[in-house]
Amino acid sequence: MDTASLDDGCLGYEVILRDDDTSTPRCPHGPTLLFEKVGKQGEEGKRFYACSACRDRKDCNFFQREDEKVSETRKLAREVENKRGRPPFSQQQYSARLHQFVSLPPDEKTFCQDCQLLLLAKETGTHAAHACIPVTATQLRQPSRLLLPLDNKKSNAQYLFTERTTRFLLGTLVAQGFNKVLCVGTPRLHELIKSEYPRGKANPIKSLLLDIDFRYAQFYGQDEFCHYNMFNHHFFDSEASSAVIQAFLRESKGEKVVMVADPPFGGLVKPLANSFSRISQAWANQQNSDRSCVDMPMIWIFPYFFEPRILGCFPSFTMLDYQVDYDNHSLYKHGKTGRKQSPVRLFTNITPAKIVLPLEEGYKFCTICERYVWSLNKHCTKCNVCPSKDGRLWKHCSVCERCVKPSWQHCQSCGRCALPDHPCDQSQGEVGCYNCASLGHKRKACPRKHVSSHGSTSKRRRIIKTKRQKEKKKKKTFN
Ligand code: SAH
Ligand code: ZN
Ligand code: ZN
Ligand code: ZN
Ligand code: ZN
Repeated sequence: MDTASLDDGCLGYEVILRDDDTSTPRCPHGPTLLFEKVGKQGEEGKRFYACSACRDRKDCNFFQREDEKVSETRKLAREVENKRGRPPFSQQQYSARLHQFVSLPPDEKTFCQDCQLLLLAKETGTHAAHACIPVTATQLRQPSRLLLPLDNKKSNAQYLFTERTTRFLLGTLVAQGFNKVLCVGTPRLHELIKSEYPRGKANPIKSLLLDIDFRYAQFYGQDEFCHYNMFNHHFFDSEASSAVIQAFLRESKGEKVVMVADPPFGGLVKPLANSFSRISQAWANQQNSDRSCVDMPMIWIFPYFFEPRILGCFPSFTMLDYQVDYDNHSLYKHGKTGRKQSPVRLFTNITPAKIVLPLEEGYKFCTICERYVWSLNKHCTKCNVCPSKDGRLWKHCSVCERCVKPSWQHCQSCGRCALPDHPCDQSQGEVGCYNCASLGHKRKACPRKHVSSHGSTSKRRRIIKTKRQKEKKKKKTFN
C-alpha cells in the first residue's frame, strides 16, 4: 500500500511538502500548505495553498490557487491581516507581565475570563465590566484548568488528559530517565512536570511547551513556552524561539531529551511527521557527532486508525495498547470491558518492552511480542502477533490469513473480511479508505469521515451520508 499517497487523503486532499517554504504564501498561522485534490474525477491535480492549522474556513479562510497571480494590493492587505492575527503581547512581554503578576499581593491576583488574561494592577479598571476572578497560586500552576478549552473542533480541539493519563505519561518518562521533556501540544503534561519536578528540587525535570495557543505564554518564562505551529514547524517569534529550542534540545551532562506530542486529530499526518522529523533533526544537530545516527525519542499520541499512515512516515515506531483518555471528551474514555474505549494510542520509537502499562488497569505483558497489551488482546499463534488495535478481542480468518475485527465476517463475493452489511458491488481496490486508511471500506462509507474536512465539502458529505452511517454515528462505535 502506498501510504504516501494515502496520507491526508482524509481531507480528499494530499499535502505536497517542499523543503523550502520561504516563498510559500503566509496566513496568520505561518507558511500555508500546498494541497492537491485527490480521488475526485475531473478535479484531480488541482493545487492550492490553504492554512496549515485550521481545517475550517471559518477560522482561517486563506485560499490561493497555486498558479494564481496575487496583486501587490492584495499582498499588502494580507500583511495587515497576518499582523492582526498576532497575540496582543510578545513572549518577552508576557514573561515580563508574569514577573510583575507573581509579585502582586494574593488578593490582587486577578484573571479576566472574558479576555483570558492575567491582569496587572493598573489593568483591573479597564476590565471592570468583565468576569474577573481571583487566582490562587495553585491555579497559576495549572493554566489548563483556568483557561477555557478552545473547542473549535476542527482547529484547536483542546482535549485535556485525565489525571490518570497525565500521571502515566510522566511516570513512564521518569522510569526511562528522561529529564528534558519537549511538550508539543501537551500543556497538561507540561504543568504536571513543572509542579512535580520543579527547578531547585532534587532531580528536576525541564519542560518546554510548544503550542499554538498563545494564552499559555502568560503563565511561563520565555524558556518554558514557545508559540509554535506543529503543522508547518513554524515558530511565531522565530528569533527568540530558535535560541530557546536549540538550548533545550542540547543534552549536556546527564541530560536526556524526549518529545511528547498530542496533535489535534483532524488529520494531516504527513505535515506533522515532517515537523517532528525536523525537531528530531535539530536535536541530532545539537548533540556530539556520535549521536547523529540515533533518533530522538518521541511519543506521538493519535487514534489507532492512523497507524498505517504514522508507520508509513516513521517505520521504526510501534503503536502501544495504552488507551489515552481525556477529561473533556466523553468518547475518548478509558474503558474496561463494556464501557466505551478510547481509540487514542501512543506511537513511539522507545522500545515497547520498556513501557510498562498498568497491570491493575488490565494490561499484561506478551512475552512473544515483547510488549504490554490490553487484556482482551489475545496473541494469535497463526499471525504471531497480538492483533487487536481497538481494545476488542479480534478473531483469526483462515481464508484471509489474518486477524480481523470481531464485527467483521468473511465475504465470499468480495473474497475478504468486512462488516456484514458492506456494499458488495463496490470494488474496494487496493487503496482502502482515504479517511482512516482502513481496507474495509471506501471513504464514502467511512464511519469517521465527519471528523475531518477542509471546509466546503460539507454539503457533498451531507448528500452522500447513507442511512447506515447515520445509524453508526448514533451508536458512536468505531467498527
Ligand atoms: N491532551 C493534551 C492537549 C491536547 S489538545 C493535554 O492535556 O496536555 C491539542 C493541543 O495542541 C492543544 O493544546 C492545542 O492548543 C494545541 N494545538 C492545536 N493546533 C496546534 C498547532 N497547529 N500547532 C501547535 N499546537 C496546536
Ligand atoms: Zn491560517
Ligand atoms: Zn491471526
Ligand atoms: Zn476473511
Ligand atoms: Zn474509513
